[in-house]
Parts: sequence; C-alpha cells; structure tokens
Amino acid sequence: MATATTAIEPNVKISATKLLINGQWVNSASGKTFPTINPSTGEVITQVAEADAPDVDKAVSAARTAFETGPWRKKLTASQRGNLMYKLADLLEKNADELAQLEALDNGKPYHVARAADVPLTIACYRYYAGWADKNQGKTIPVNGPYFTYTKHEPVGVAGQIIPWNFPLLMQAWKLAPALAAGCTVVLKPAEQTPLSALRVGELILEAGFPPGVVNILPGYGPTAGAAIARHMDVDKVAFTGSTEVGHLIMRAAADSNLKRVTLELGGKSPNIVFADADMDKAIEGAHFALFFNQGQCCCAGSRLFVEEKAYDEFVERSAVRAKKRTVGNPFDKNTEQGPQVDQDQFDKIMGYIDAGKKEKAKLVAGGNRVGDKGYFIEPTVFADVQDNMKIAQEEIFGPVMSILKFKDVSEVVERANKSLYGLAAAVWTKDITKAHAIADGVRAGTVWVNCYDVFDAGAPFGGFKQSGIGRELGEYGLSNYTEVKTVTIKI
Ligand code: ADP
Repeated sequence: MATATTAIEPNVKISATKLLINGQWVNSASGKTFPTINPSTGEVITQVAEADAPDVDKAVSAARTAFETGPWRKKLTASQRGNLMYKLADLLEKNADELAQLEALDNGKPYHVARAADVPLTIACYRYYAGWADKNQGKTIPVNGPYFTYTKHEPVGVAGQIIPWNFPLLMQAWKLAPALAAGCTVVLKPAEQTPLSALRVGELILEAGFPPGVVNILPGYGPTAGAAIARHMDVDKVAFTGSTEVGHLIMRAAADSNLKRVTLELGGKSPNIVFADADMDKAIEGAHFALFFNQGQCCCAGSRLFVEEKAYDEFVERSAVRAKKRTVGNPFDKNTEQGPQVDQDQFDKIMGYIDAGKKEKAKLVAGGNRVGDKGYFIEPTVFADVQDNMKIAQEEIFGPVMSILKFKDVSEVVERANKSLYGLAAAVWTKDITKAHAIADGVRAGTVWVNCYDVFDAGAPFGGFKQSGIGRELGEYGLSNYTEVKTVTIKI
C-alpha cells in the first residue's frame, strides 16, 4: 500500500444529491434515497435521491417542453448553444480539482489520474462539440426537374442517456456534448455506483445558464429508472454505455415501445498483439497500461494479450515483475497507480474469475489475492499459458487480471483474435509496418491502436463491431447519432 505521507485529504463539499428536473433540484416522487459508497472503505459517502418511472415521466415531459417550445430551440442560435457549452467547459476547468476529488471518492480511481486524464478529456469533449454546434450543416442536392432540394440537420429530439460508473465524468461528456451540440434535450441517468460528479456537473450546467429542462439528471438504478427511460414512448433516442447483457434489454425496450433510435457502447475482450520485433520495453509497459489502467475497468481493456512465441517467456516474466511493482492503495495518494474496484459486486465477480483461471490451470505468475481487509482492492494479477477456450480468455473480467496467450504467426493470431463475440478495440506492437497493417486490416474491431493503447481524442470515433455495440461516439460520427436529416424540396 502507498504511504500516508504522500496522500492529500479530500476536502470536497458534496452539495448536489437530488434529481435535476426542469432546472430545479427535487426529491424523487417516492421520497426514496440510496447510498453511494466509497469503494476505498465500503462506507456510505452520502444518500442520493432515487429516481424511478414517475420521475422519468416528469423529466421527459420537461425535456419535451424544452425541446418543442423552450428558448433552447426557439430563441438560441446554434452558435449561442455552442457558447453555452464553452461556458460549461470553462466552469468545469475552474472546478477541476473538486471534480477529480469526486471521481476519486465515488469511483475509487486515483485522484491524480482523474485530474490529469478524466477531467481534461471531459473538458476537451465539451469544447470539441461546442465547436460543432454551428457547423452541423446540410447539403444542396442537384436533383432532376425544376426543383431545389436541400437537407437540414435537425436534432433527433429528447435523448435518454444511460451511463456507466467506470468513467463517470467522461461518459457524461461523451453523451451530453454531442446531444447538446445537435440541439437535443436530455434525460441522463448516471450509474447508481457513481452519481456524485454527474450531479455536480448538473449544478455547473445551471450556473452556465442552460435553459430549464434542457438537461435533466436522474440518479437511480438500472432496472427501474434506466428501464423507464429505455421504454419511454416520448424519448426519441436512447444512448447507452454498459454491459452487453443490458444492451440487449435496451434494444428490446426500444423495439417494444416507440422504435426510438438506439446507440450502444458495450463490452469487449480486446486483443492486444505483441510481435517479437516490437520495442519490448514499450510493449511491456504498454500492455500493462492497456490492462491495468483504471483498475482494469475499461470496456476496451487489452484483456487478451497475445505474445509471439519467440518473445513469450521473457514477456511473461517481465510483465509479472511489472505487475508486482504496481502500487495499490489510497486513491488520494500521488504514488498510487491502482485504487479499489468500484463495489462489492465487481470485487466478487473479479475474484470469481481469478478462481476460474486457477481451476482451469492457467499459470498464476503475479497477484491473485485481495489487498488489505477493507475496501475493494485487488492485487494486479497475471495469468500465463492462457488458452483460447478458458473462461478468463473469453469473458469480460473488468478488473486487474491480465491473461497472456501465445501465438506463432499473423494469420493465426488474426483468426484467434476474431473468435470473440466482441469487437471493440485491438492493438498491435511491432516495428514492421506490414504486420501492423495486417492486424489493422484483419481484426474486426472499432478501434485499432498501433504501438500505443487507450489513445482517445474527442475527434476520433469510438465504438464497437459485433456485440460490442451499435454506432460510434465522438467525432463527427458521434454527432450524427443525435441528428435527423430532413430533405426539403421546393418547386421552382
Ligand atoms: P455494470 O454491470 O458494469 O454495472 P450495467 O450495464 O449493469 O453495467 O450498467 C450500466 C448502466 O446501465 C448503469 O447506469 C445501470 O444503472 C444501467 N442499467 C442496468 N440495468 C439496466 C436496465 N435493465 N435498463 C436500463 N438501464 C440499466
């Protein structure tokens, strides 16, 4: 564990714990609240209002009114909408320390990581899409006959957005920013594990001056509040990030209700492929980061690590050494690389996968145990000699458990990499451009990183092939999910 001397004391004041509906902070209709837990200690941080279907109805109705008759679309120009988003980004920047503290407290991720990565990426995302607000333009079309035809890019309407707990601030930005730039109004549900930063952003949204009802934020549980959003007859589009299992439910709810548009960003079991000619220092550190970053809680984690036979033994040995060196402990300590898992459920699930790896006779070369006796800390764990058919090679673990597999050549590894129901991301480490291309071309995944991992930019689209999702977030493609194209034809 990291020592207490390099730790800071969190001093964040938690002011927002209610539902944000129509510009007001309100209790839930039922009056119910739920606890949000500090994963470092297992203790309750605070109680938060718990939304359910009646609150979703109220919020959707506020979002509908804001969309149809409010100043958002009737008075503000596209560039004024963008300016409000720039203002929000400035407020996020001003409150960056506090936001990073909330992430560390509620999610368990190291404060210094949230401050250096999550918060700046969040701000960059709002600024990127603020710039798009007045640039989402249509076309003129050279049709036959005496007609003038043009297209308009209109907002899709009321967007329901359901986000996960692994990057609470950033996932909120990936959802809100393109929706607002397109001119939609929003009902957003943060994950029940991590509602605090989303609610603080709600306060900043009001401070920035967004009109009432444009953004409504409803903390609550998935099968209640989340499901009510997915099946609502007056929500025009649902955007969801979370498990593949729940992704199926969201799509079904959309089909059974009003055929609302659906975008999904789901699970992964991403192949990270290391050739023997790679810069080994960089590949080992890169693979370590690809798997262990964010406590292993990344949908795109490089969780099937394929290493070429010739380099395998050295790679395994050095990866185990690196994992053993990883500092696990207090998220408010600047020397901490890894905090706790987000909650007891995730902790239990990951420990179950570690057991499965041992039972299926993968070779445990680092970790495998809990750290400490309080909170949800797990040792950085590495399994070698992992076979394709083992549970730990097939299922998403979402924790600090690395599985290293062996391969011989390009065509074999491409085939094995693609034997997965997922297709979110992949990476390749090599100095040979031909091999890099072969992997980038051959692997069916939404993102391929070459000699790097987890490189994100608001302009670069992200999303999954196969059961890793539908649609893309970020960039211009992300904006199109919140846009309806209208064709206007005029007789001249
Ligand atoms: P995880 O298993 O990693 O917690 P989930 O897919 O369960 O991932 O959760 C991601 C988000 O989806 C959370 O906001 C959660 O509350 C929500 N959610 C969970 N179940 C449902 C559901 N049946 N309908 C709608 N949203 C749900």
